[in-house]
Amino acid sequence: MNKKTKTIIWIVVAVLVVGLVGILLSDIIGSARDVSFSEFMAYLQKGEIHKLYIDAYNWTGYALDSNGNLVPVLATVAPSVYDFSSLTALLESLNNPQVIANLAIEFTDPNAGSIWSSLIPLFGVVLVALMFWLIMRNAAGGNNPTMSIGKTKAHVQNNLKVRFTDVAGAEEEKEELQEVVEFLKSPKKFSNLGARIPSGVLLVGPPGTGKTLFAKAVAGEAGVPFFSVSGSDFVEMYVGVGAKRVRELFDLAKKNQPCIIFIDEIDAVGRRRGAGLGGGHDEREQTLNQILVQMDGFEANEGIIVMAATNRADILDPALLRPGRFDRQITVNLPDVKGREQILRVHARNKPMSPDVNFKTVARITAGFSGADLANLLNEAAILAARANKKLIENVHLFDAIDKVMMGLKKKSHVITEADKRILAYHEAGHAVLAELCKYCDPVHEVTIIPRGNGAGGFTMTRPAEDSVFNSYNEMLDDICMTLGGRVAEELVIKDVTQGASGDLRMVTNTARRMITQYGMSEELGLVAYDSDQPVFVGMEYGHSESKYSQETAAKIDAEIRRLTAEAHERATKLLQENRSILDNMARLLVEKETIYTEEVAMLMKGASYQEVIAFMDENAGVREKDPFAAMIGGVNKETAETASEEKTEDVSTDKQE
Ligand code: ADP
Ligand code: MG
Ligand code: ZN
Repeated sequence: MNKKTKTIIWIVVAVLVVGLVGILLSDIIGSARDVSFSEFMAYLQKGEIHKLYIDAYNWTGYALDSNGNLVPVLATVAPSVYDFSSLTALLESLNNPQVIANLAIEFTDPNAGSIWSSLIPLFGVVLVALMFWLIMRNAAGGNNPTMSIGKTKAHVQNNLKVRFTDVAGAEEEKEELQEVVEFLKSPKKFSNLGARIPSGVLLVGPPGTGKTLFAKAVAGEAGVPFFSVSGSDFVEMYVGVGAKRVRELFDLAKKNQPCIIFIDEIDAVGRRRGAGLGGGHDEREQTLNQILVQMDGFEANEGIIVMAATNRADILDPALLRPGRFDRQITVNLPDVKGREQILRVHARNKPMSPDVNFKTVARITAGFSGADLANLLNEAAILAARANKKLIENVHLFDAIDKVMMGLKKKSHVITEADKRILAYHEAGHAVLAELCKYCDPVHEVTIIPRGNGAGGFTMTRPAEDSVFNSYNEMLDDICMTLGGRVAEELVIKDVTQGASGDLRMVTNTARRMITQYGMSEELGLVAYDSDQPVFVGMEYGHSESKYSQETAAKIDAEIRRLTAEAHERATKLLQENRSILDNMARLLVEKETIYTEEVAMLMKGASYQEVIAFMDENAGVREKDPFAAMIGGVNKETAETASEEKTEDVSTDKQE
């Protein structure tokens, strides 16, 4: 509700209260007279008072009027005697038993304030009425701050100035979204050729990685209106409101196509249905259903693209991800060292930076920062510079700002210090080297020490990256060996272990347990499926396994799991010891570059030094930007390589400027 309505409501309340108080006051003491105490006693003596109200401060006498009604005649005598117990004595002193017998005396609680206490229920009524009124207004959606476009609670922005150049790094994502931009610019071109453009694009990534920025950039590039709404805006107390808002939003968008609808925090409404505590048909579910209905209702290529952002795609209702809905997913990750440098440059564009500021260095020591953190960092630095009365932002300001931002971040997220970086690098290198060495492991596709939001510190991706669907005994053994690699590398190099490997250990244990209890892969236990039904949750395995076999068998299973993992641990240790120089090189490279791909891993496995790989990466940096897939696929595209070498000279010149 806005300020104006609030003020009006308060005025109404004030008028009501004053009016009511006035009425009540006049009712009680309207015609009464104030008298002295001795006068009052004289009236009592004569028997003209029929009823007496007494509290600690006032005595009020009521007499009968000609019609036989009680009316206040004498009021507010404040007797010197506040003590009620002495009242009886006082009345007795009137020495008129007749009067005393006829007199009705009522004591009222002195603390309540007789008038106000009678007002309390009235207040209640007024408040309830007021609340009811407010809710009705809210439900009707008539009084929100974004009245400009009616009742949807959405914000509409036309002519957004944001462009792809404002989003640094993330070249792959830009490329994918470029398609959407072109479609929005000229939908006809696509529909004439019968191309089906995704109606929904889901941006997935940790907070502050530029999801909102990306959505805006798409609208800006395409020059179309941008309707944005947050998932949490849909969630209201009253059933039906959210669904209604969705309908209104889509109706509005249809009148303004081509356009973009952006639903931020879609997880607020899009969580898997039936999983909530609210049970069956709650408000959230209705809202979600309405979103689905609306998205299905699009004519093909209607000119509306629905974009949504979430930091957890795994909790979304699968229905949202079906074809025709959010069938395009774009993952936006925390930037690595290169991305961070680019983001810093973008945000430094309109800030006076001292020429000796080196963005490379700043990028290096801000591992784990999101784009938003980096923007915040430059802003803090600007504030510090201004406070120091400087005309330019200098290195000192940046470094102080890093401290400041890090302190804020340490509490809520994972900022990676240089020491952490080394441990993470060895951990991930351990996985990667073993994946390459073990015959049955898939080849390594990407290794990174930048957190990927799944709770893991780093990430080693093998291709195919699907969830472990291992078939044979040897494949499973190799998987266990590779998964233990992180922990083993820590043991070998850091001479200590971190809790970072707990996820790995859980995976290893689960695989080993399945081998033994489901696939009959242990001679000791034989060809018996101890756990025949697939557990629904990992954690339940232990629960329902108890009932199926004896304590003795359970102990045997545990012993077998321990044996399998111990053997794998031994093998992993041996392999990493034998290939210690590769491990060291890879870890150093990871500290330096944070993310490496197939090609670099292959070079290292062939014995290249880390300097050689760095030289190779720097040489191909331009190509990577142009064709990020080249590195993953494992071959630099010739054509792009040429244009890249031109770019490289540009790179060098900018580096010199720093
Ligand atoms: P998200 O929606 O993913 O939480 P935002 O898009 O709201 O993140 O990002 C917040 C701010 O962080 C942006 O307005 C921008 O200033 C900055 N930012 C984030 N990522 C980038 C990036 N890749 N390039 C430039 N700025 C970025
Ligand atoms: Mg956002
Ligand atoms: Zn690991």
